[in-house]
This record gives sequence, C-alpha cells and structure tokens, in this order.
Amino acid sequence: MREPRYDILFEPVQIGPVTAKNRFYQVPHCTGLGWVRPRMVAALRGMKAEGGWGVVCTEYCSIHPASDDLPHPYASLWDKGDIKSHAAMTEQVHEHGALAGVELWAGGSRSSNLFTHETAIDVDSRPNATGVPYQTRAMDKADIRELRRWHKNAALRAKEAGFDIVYVYATHDYLLSHFLSAKTNARTDEYGGSLENRVRLVRELIEETKEAVGDSCAVAVRFSAEQGGGGDGNPVIGEHREMLEMLAELPDLWDINISDYSLEMGVSRFVKEGSLEAYMSYVKTITSKPVVTVGRFTSPDSMVSQVKRGIVDFIGAARPSIADPFLPKKIEQGRLDDIRECIGCNICYAGDSKSTPIRCTQNPTISEEWRRGWHPEKIDKKGSDSSVLVIGAGPAGLEATRALGQRGYHVLLAESERELGGRVTRESRLPGLSEWFRVRNHRTQQIHSMTNVEIYLESPMTVDDVLAAETDHVVIATGASWRADGVGLYNETPIAGLDSHDQVSTPDDIMSGGLPKSPTIVYDDDHYYMASVIAEKLIMENIAVTFVTPNSVVSAWGVMTAEQVRVQKRLIDIGVNIITNHRLSSFEGQRAVINCVYSGKEQNIDIKSIVTVTSRHPNDTLFRELQNYKNEQPDFAPKSITRIGDCEAPAIIAGAVFSGHRYARELDTVVNPDARIKYDRVFFEDS
Ligand code: ADP
Ligand code: SF4
Repeated sequence: MREPRYDILFEPVQIGPVTAKNRFYQVPHCTGLGWVRPRMVAALRGMKAEGGWGVVCTEYCSIHPASDDLPHPYASLWDKGDIKSHAAMTEQVHEHGALAGVELWAGGSRSSNLFTHETAIDVDSRPNATGVPYQTRAMDKADIRELRRWHKNAALRAKEAGFDIVYVYATHDYLLSHFLSAKTNARTDEYGGSLENRVRLVRELIEETKEAVGDSCAVAVRFSAEQGGGGDGNPVIGEHREMLEMLAELPDLWDINISDYSLEMGVSRFVKEGSLEAYMSYVKTITSKPVVTVGRFTSPDSMVSQVKRGIVDFIGAARPSIADPFLPKKIEQGRLDDIRECIGCNICYAGDSKSTPIRCTQNPTISEEWRRGWHPEKIDKKGSDSSVLVIGAGPAGLEATRALGQRGYHVLLAESERELGGRVTRESRLPGLSEWFRVRNHRTQQIHSMTNVEIYLESPMTVDDVLAAETDHVVIATGASWRADGVGLYNETPIAGLDSHDQVSTPDDIMSGGLPKSPTIVYDDDHYYMASVIAEKLIMENIAVTFVTPNSVVSAWGVMTAEQVRVQKRLIDIGVNIITNHRLSSFEGQRAVINCVYSGKEQNIDIKSIVTVTSRHPNDTLFRELQNYKNEQPDFAPKSITRIGDCEAPAIIAGAVFSGHRYARELDTVVNPDARIKYDRVFFEDS
C-alpha cells in the first residue's frame, strides 16, 4: 500500500461547489481527436479517471463557430450533438469518481476559421497568428456582447453535458490574452488602456460563467503567471501579478502556466521537471483559491514537495498522464516501480501539430482505448501454451517481450549486445537525451520480475540458433542501421563518392565511439533530432561542425514537437555553422560540393569528413533468411516468423514500441487485416 508520506496527494480538495477526490489533476491537453473522434476521446479521458486522476479535462473547446481551428481537431460545444459527445466523456470520467473539466476557448487571431468561414474576431484587426493570409475583425461593443453571450451559452451547454469545472481560458495567445496585454490591446474604450479596462472582459466572463453555472460547476481560469520576454529561468512577471491580484478571489480555481510554450511543455533535452516553479511560485500568496500548474512531474516526492511548500494545491499534468494514465493509482498502491515515466520527447504533441490521434513513446495504448480496445494496464491472458523467441532488445523487442510476458507466454529474449535497450540505450547517451533511458528502464524493470521470461545477452542469433531454440513463434526486432550513402528525404539516389570514403560516418559510428576528423559536415536529410544532437556532441568533442540541410530550417520535424526553435538556437549558441537550403552533391575527401535547392548554385566547402544523417536500412537479413528457410522446409520451421519495429520499417521510437505492443496483443487472436481498428466518427445530431 501507499507510503504515508504520499497521503497528502490523496487529500480531497474543494473547488467552489465541487470537490476533487485527490490532488491529481489532468489539465486540459490536446489529443488530436477533439470533436472529430468523440468515442476515442471519451475512452481516453475515461481511462485517466480509471487511473485515479481526481480531475480530467478536455482539450480546448470552441464556444462558437467563429473559433474554428481545423485542421487541428479542437473540441466544440456548439450544439446538441456536441453536448452528446461530451456527455459520453463526462459519464466515463464520473464512473470513476473524477471531476470533468472543460476549457472553453475563444481563438481570436489564432483561429483561421478555414472550416466555418466565419470571420474571426479579436481585440483589434490582427494578422492570423498561424500564417493564414486573413486578418481578424476588430471587435466592436456588439461583438464583445456577442462573445459574452456565446461564452455563457457554451457554459450552459457544458453543464448540460455533465461538466463539473468550466474554464475561462485567458492565456496561450488566444483572444482573451490579447485583451489583457498592453502590447496587443490598443483600444480606447472601456476594454482598453488601463489595467482595469484590459482585465474587464476576463472579469465579466468569470462573473457571467459563475452566474450561469456556478451553482453546480466550479469556474476555473487558465492564466499566465508572467508577462514573458525574459528568456529561460528569468521570469518577467510584469503586470500579470497585478492582474492576478485584481481577480484573485473571483474564480474557484487558478490553472497557471507561462507565456513561453516551448518552456511550459519543453522537451526534456532542454527543459527538466518542475521548470515552471520560478515563474509562478508567488501565485498562492495572493489567492486563497486552489492553484494548479504543470511541470512534467513523475516523481511523487517532487509532487509532495510542491504541495508542502505551498506552490500548488493540485499536481497538474498533461504528459505524465498520457505516458501513464495510472500514475495516481500506482502511487496510491505503493507500486512506484511500475510508473511509466514520461521521457519528455513531445511525440504526443506532434499529434496535435499534425491534427492526428495522439500517440506516446511510453504508452502505446493512448488513443487506442476505444478503437482497439487497449487498456494501458490490462491485457488478455495468453491464447495458447506457445513459446516465443524475441530477437533484439531495442524498444520494439523489449515492449513485445514485456507485453507477451504479461500475457503469460514463455518468452526467450536474445540480444547480441551486452546491454538491453538497442537504439534507446545508445541514443540516451547523446547530449540532452538521458531521460530517454526511461523507455528501456520501465520495460527491463517489468521483465526482470517475470519468471516466464528468459534473457540472453551477448547472443547474436543466426538461423541455426533460431531453429535450435525450438520456439513456436519468432519475432525479429533487429532494428535498423543508418545509411552512409546519402539517401534521404531529398536525395533519392546515393551521393557521388560517399560510400568510397573512410572519412564518411553515420550516427551509428558516432554512438559506437567513433569521431570524425575536424572540420566536418553534418549532413541532415532526416530532419528530426538526430543530426542536431550529433552536431552538439561533436562540438563537445572540439570538432568544428558545418551543418548542411536541404530544408529551410534545422530539425524541421521539431516544429511538431515544439522544439525546432530551441534546437536551432542551441546550434547557433554552440558555434555550429549552419547552411540551410543546400543539398550535398559530392565529397572528394578534402572538399564537399553543395548546391542551393532553389538556384542550383554550387559552393565548395573544405572539410576533412562528413557525417550523414539521412535515412536507415532495416536490419532484416535474419528475417529474410528465416523466411527462405520456412519456404523450403515448412515442416521444420517455427509456426510464425514476424518482423517488428525498425526491422520492419524504421521509424521513431514510439513506432517501435507500438509495433512490439501490437504484436504481443495480436498473438493467438484472429485479426481481420481489413478491419484492424474500429472507425470513430462524429455523431449526427443537428441542433
Ligand atoms: P527497434 O527500434 O526496432 O527496437 P533497435 O535498433 O533499437 O530496434 O534494436 C535492435 C536490437 O537488436 C539491437 O539491440 C541489436 O543489438 C539487436 N540485434 C540485431 N541483430 C541481432 C541478432 N542477430 N541477434 C540478436 N540481437 C540482434
Ligand atoms: Fe511523454 Fe513523450 Fe509520451 Fe509525450 S510522447 S507523454 S513527452 S513520453
């Protein structure tokens, strides 16, 4: 059972007219599901409640078609159909004794309304913040009255849908924050100018929401504790303290965050646990209302410390609740070793960025609760007494082993190296990525306690070894290797001369301890994190680096994980010479030739080596050899030979984990290859 020192986390906390059963609070976070996938989102939120979260909130929820963010699937509360969708969520949340919260959202210049074609409105006529070539209509008094009416009506619909907490969302560069800020609010009426005037609309919305639903619903305000602009670790509180003082006792709860999103939900490469404290620790000194904030908290001791030191009343979480929906239950049951800690990679956020269902590196079951029926903690018992040989202990092999072991199969895990973890172990040693070890550690921790799993290290498997093991099923999780020939996203064919030079290396060579001669080019045609961390590592080794990429920015995919700006800044800060929009054309040992992707104009760069970070080859030789054997000797071959993870198709770590998990779930089940998943869609009910 739980340790007494964690009791404080399980105290009930009153929020206006409602009471949360404990201090675990899933703050509003996107899922890439929104109004588009109502059953998937309801099941996802319900799972958090089952996992012990005392409060479970929606994502940003549009109050009116004038706030439309498609293609990003926000939630909406526009009509009866929406009420019905949300009721599906609140029912599942209530079933487990949790409170359901809804974050009412007015987008202002961040909503482009490409779906509804309504004119977006804001404090002034502002350019669309997402780059769509439209401007907003400057709100006149009638617009303000309309906005207040929409907000009130949405609050009433929220109540009807069963929500317990209704938000006024006054941050994150959406409409209300533009009214608050002196930078954006240049109005000369009673909604602009003085602080009191700029705060007026937020005050009115709080009061009117309370009036409309405050008898049974708590009213929360999401608010930035600081004005921003000071850079990391240098909070500039500015007027926000005064604003908080003016509104301090009005709402029932303060949900506090900060102005810099890339810090608020920064990747672990740059931002560590509890990073908001310096920005918001003053908030509780000016309000008696409960306060919640985030900080990627996964350690119960840090959580207790936050509460005991009077920083917060609730432990707010988005990512830790995604990586482990059962985090509160595990603390409650004293099962701390079972916690699946978030690694801070922000793959979850990429779902929102790409407008696709959320996925998580640590939790392969997220968004699969309804359509695949996956539960993060439960899995069907084994379907036979078959034995399984898993070859390769990277994230795919480890997750397959863990989940097969949980099902009760007899599993043999063979790994050619001395250590488990494959690419995760290697990559975690690169600059800034140490938290990624958690992917390996969680799984090895679980596997080591399973008596039905045998682990064989330093066991490079051949066809003969596989046959000698005599298992019923064989899973090939042998990963992938970085190519040295320059084939990547932009370069479809090998680059002249690369293969013939020993001065050409790959991330695999660097991770194995090899270092290129200085000065070197890091050539990025992969466009995610790897080239930038390799560049950082080489700089740490005193190797001069020129970073060349055909893309227009460093680490372009990092936009999806909210890290691109930080990555590029880091490379600039540490002295990497960055050349964008150029392809590598050839390398002659002393000189590289690069060409502008627009003009073709050629440049020569004198260098001694090149590190290519372009794409990977699946390590599927063993798989193919075993397939051949099975074709020739079907009676003597294992029943099934399956490749998973990077060996099947090189991808992100989340892809490997998912692949291993799916294999384990599907063994000894009947899978209809044409209908692997249920297809969620909106309910048809016109208002
Ligand atoms: P994934 O991301 O798909 O899990 P990784 O590259 O992380 O793939 O892991 C693959 C693992 O497989 C590595 O740890 C590697 O040492 C191991 N491996 C590769 N070939 C063999 C083999 N023939 N026998 C045993 N282990 C192997
Ligand atoms: Fe954490 Fe990464 Fe999972 Fe997001 S995807 S919750 S950052 S482990």
